[in-house]
Amino acid sequence: MNASGADSAGIWAPPVGPAAPRDLCTDCGVSRTDDPKRCGKACQFIAPDYPGLEVAAHGRARDPARPDEQFFGPFRQMLRASLKHPSAGAQWTGIATRIGEKLLETGAVDAVLTMMADPEDRWKPAPMLVTDPKGMAAARGMRMGYAPLLALLEPARAKGYKRLAVIGIPCQVYALRALERELGFDRLYVIGTPCSDNTTTEKFHDFLALLADDPDTITYLEFRADYHVELRFTDGRVKAVPFLQLPISKLPPDFFPLTCRTCVDYTNTLSDITVGYMGGQGEQWLLVRNERGAELLSLLGDEVKLSAPGSAGKRQSAVKGFMANVARAAGGLPLRRMPGWVRPIVGWLMPRIGPRGTEFARTRVEMKAVETVIHLRREEPRRVKSMIPDHVWALVEPYGLTPEEDERRTGPRYDKKQG
Ligand SMILES: Cc1cc2nc3c(=O)[nH]c(=O)nc-3n(C[C@H](O)[C@H](O)[C@H](O)COP(=O)(O)OP(=O)(O)OC[C@H]3O[C@@H](n4cnc5c(N)ncnc54)[C@H](O)[C@@H]3O)c2cc1C
Ligand code: SF4
Ligand code: SF4
Repeated sequence: MNASGADSAGIWAPPVGPAAPRDLCTDCGVSRTDDPKRCGKACQFIAPDYPGLEVAAHGRARDPARPDEQFFGPFRQMLRASLKHPSAGAQWTGIATRIGEKLLETGAVDAVLTMMADPEDRWKPAPMLVTDPKGMAAARGMRMGYAPLLALLEPARAKGYKRLAVIGIPCQVYALRALERELGFDRLYVIGTPCSDNTTTEKFHDFLALLADDPDTITYLEFRADYHVELRFTDGRVKAVPFLQLPISKLPPDFFPLTCRTCVDYTNTLSDITVGYMGGQGEQWLLVRNERGAELLSLLGDEVKLSAPGSAGKRQSAVKGFMANVARAAGGLPLRRMPGWVRPIVGWLMPRIGPRGTEFARTRVEMKAVETVIHLRREEPRRVKSMIPDHVWALVEPYGLTPEEDERRTGPRYDKKQG
């Protein structure tokens, strides 16, 4: 890549301005734009309006007659999916980046805004604009950390890109949707991935060091839906570690920043299409949310194998156990650990009897909701009212977490949207 950030594969990664100091912030890029004050209306950590933006993006609110929308946001179709020919270097089979390639191949967009790996550190995300389908290969795979994706919106506009696709995680997509109108793109496609438990790239390196003697040779990590973490190494080795045997208790309490412990949107409810794996039982998991999302899926034609997702097991006891541990950890108490000899047995049982498929996805969404309420109440109680939407309160209510009077948003503007 040359000094202007351009290279021959149609990738443009210009330098971005400095970040403005912010309290709860994942550096989505808005504070680095010409008008950093826009954080006030764009940030999911300040006063998010999920009901309003869901209606704006999808044309309707969550439908109470479709219970899964209370977990995952509005969607037309939920599918298990995989590319028949997985893309090399992709996190799963590469559906997210293949959609980007297709949009460029068909000329539907001028550019795709997404992340590549920082040239100095394969785990650090760095934003880029891609104009050549071949350039999308550099986006494949998951990086851990934050990078100012949206800081490239203004450079994209200045370049004359009017039709844009953005691939982003939920906190980036929230800000993008909040600013969508004023950004003035002729066409905007939003491909979202779920996201949870992100942390800074520096801290993630500390985690890798606990997982292997040769952490610099780890090229891939994924929390699979079968309760294992998969690691791949430069020499081709693959290792699967059961969740229960992860060194989580060795991580410092601030390993996960408060942003990611209190983020209310796991499944990227404002994207046109969510591309994840949680409900896929070993395959990928798609939520096609609106007409534009259907258009994006149709671009894949018969390259993609689709089926209905399965669902098995029961989530309640897993969520309750998780909640008890979160409450202990938030109160500064050590996590309750299972005796060493029980772990392999439970580790073997979980993929067989634990929640699977859509039930696994519901489990994770409820766990995240529980975590949000407990941590925010403890660390930033004044933000509870503005940050926690009603649908999150509804998810935690069966576990005995109900809002106090001053913890719930009320008022004509908000009530109207709920109705
Ligand atoms: C921190 C993090 C946590 C995640 N947790 C979950 C989860 O719990 N459940 C789940 O179903 N899915 C999760 N995902 C999404 C998952 O890792 C895959 O990205 C998704 O399943 C799509 O797979 P794919 O093969 O289609 O992606 P690919 O075709 O390989 O494309 C991946 C896309 O993600 C972008 N990307 C990679 N790292 C980042 C980053 N740090 N920030 C922003 N964009 C990035 C890439 O630029 C690329 O466009 C998470 C992603 C991240 C970044
Ligand atoms: S996450 Fe984005 S919108 Fe929120 S404060 Fe940080 S830069 Fe601003
Ligand atoms: S967990 Fe939430 S806040 Fe943290 S990076 Fe992911 S989407 Fe953003």
